[in-house]
Amino acid sequence: MANDVGTNWAGNLAYGASTLHEPTSVDEVRRIVAGVSSIRALGSRHSFNSIADGTAELLSTAALTGPVTVDRDRSTVTVGAGIRYGELAQELEREGIALANLASLPHISVGGAVATGTHGSGKRNRSLAAAVVGLELVTGSGDLVRFTTSDPDFEGAVINLGVLGIVTRLELKVEPAFEVEQTVFERLPLENLLQNFDGVTGAAYSVSVFTTWRDPDVADSVWVKRRPDQDAPLEETLFGAVAAKDERHPLPGLPAIGCTPQLGVAGPWYNRLPHFKLDFTPSNGVELQSEYLVPREHAVDAIRAVRELSPEIVPLLQVNEIRTVAADDLWLSSSYATDAIGLHFTWVQDQPAVEALLPTLEAALEPFLARPHWGKVFTPGAHDFDRLYPRLEDFRLLTKRLDPEGIFANPFTASLMAR
Ligand SMILES: Cc1cc2nc3c(=O)[nH]c(=O)nc-3n(C[C@H](O)[C@H](O)[C@H](O)COP(=O)(O)OP(=O)(O)OC[C@H]3O[C@@H](n4cnc5c(N)ncnc54)[C@H](O)[C@@H]3O)c2cc1C
Repeated sequence: MANDVGTNWAGNLAYGASTLHEPTSVDEVRRIVAGVSSIRALGSRHSFNSIADGTAELLSTAALTGPVTVDRDRSTVTVGAGIRYGELAQELEREGIALANLASLPHISVGGAVATGTHGSGKRNRSLAAAVVGLELVTGSGDLVRFTTSDPDFEGAVINLGVLGIVTRLELKVEPAFEVEQTVFERLPLENLLQNFDGVTGAAYSVSVFTTWRDPDVADSVWVKRRPDQDAPLEETLFGAVAAKDERHPLPGLPAIGCTPQLGVAGPWYNRLPHFKLDFTPSNGVELQSEYLVPREHAVDAIRAVRELSPEIVPLLQVNEIRTVAADDLWLSSSYATDAIGLHFTWVQDQPAVEALLPTLEAALEPFLARPHWGKVFTPGAHDFDRLYPRLEDFRLLTKRLDPEGIFANPFTASLMAR
């Protein structure tokens, strides 16, 4: 136990909790939770907003990583919620199995990523939470509750924003290990992207478009992650963009040393699907992030809307990533019941300026039913979550049932729970 709880990864938020618990077993979690009136789980601290803040105490899941148990008959792996994807991948490698997808970085905890609906990219790849087929959580009374896919509330319990309890273990779907080749194509004429959105984003298993909008007619790069066992071979050009001859970083000008291997060299899934390597600082490190998930049918119009705002966006932007996420059934998923595109913004770390710009950006994306990423910076109160999430009322009922005393509530979730 310690008093200085510290900050989130980005350093833009100092947690207000007075106590940080660091349990090493589920029994310890149960004892801690049963003895407090306000607590939340803290994963690897990679969220940019106050979603993990605002309770009197915090419970770090960092030591709740194991055991990692593979069930070959069910094609699943069960893990402790605190394990980071990069560490899990090393365990899976030994077993010759893989997860279907990963986020841009392997540094995040499985429990934290799932709780916020974290996703990677890929036309047919769903959010990371969609791999969950079972979970176990400690409720406010200290009881251990298990959810499986046959529970009627299962789809509500997976992406839970930390408000249902402390998730201690998760069962994830796995598949045989596979290889991926990563190729970066540069200078994609924007009109080619807009005219061929399905072609570009469907060019391979996972595709991300990066642009700084400094030239509104050209997207800086397209990161194509190809599965040789599924995808057609790539050519030297992609809708007018040209394959890079050297390795790149998604943020122009930064060294590629911290990025996963490129140049079309085949390698294991976990060392290609994320953009960043586990043993390096991901992205820039000095930044803020926002992301809005828009139904795929609005992709082109939403990108045009962002482009319209490029004069205001460019001074605060490090890079804009455009990616795709397939629909799932999880109630609080930003791709709930719709294939979606993610419009992700890595901003400079100037919170007042970013917060001043966001209402304009959000107003421009609102007609497209944009859902803000739960773990990134967005304008509180600016989104009609009941409209965006048709199962939100069911989630409120589930929360009242599992956490009647509001032990896991914080101001972030309280505003969502209020009608
Ligand atoms: C450099 C960088 C790159 C990123 N890239 C992506 C990306 O590619 N795609 C994407 O979608 N997001 C991305 N994110 C956002 C990130 O994935 C989410 O913020 C995610 O929640 C981080 O997980 P965490 O373990 O750090 O969670 P934390 O920030 O520690 O916690 C987030 C929330 O989850 C809850 N929580 C954590 N663990 C548990 C648990 N065991 N039980 C119950 N609740 C829990 C917390 O209470 C809190 O509400 C990125 C973030 C950074 C910093």
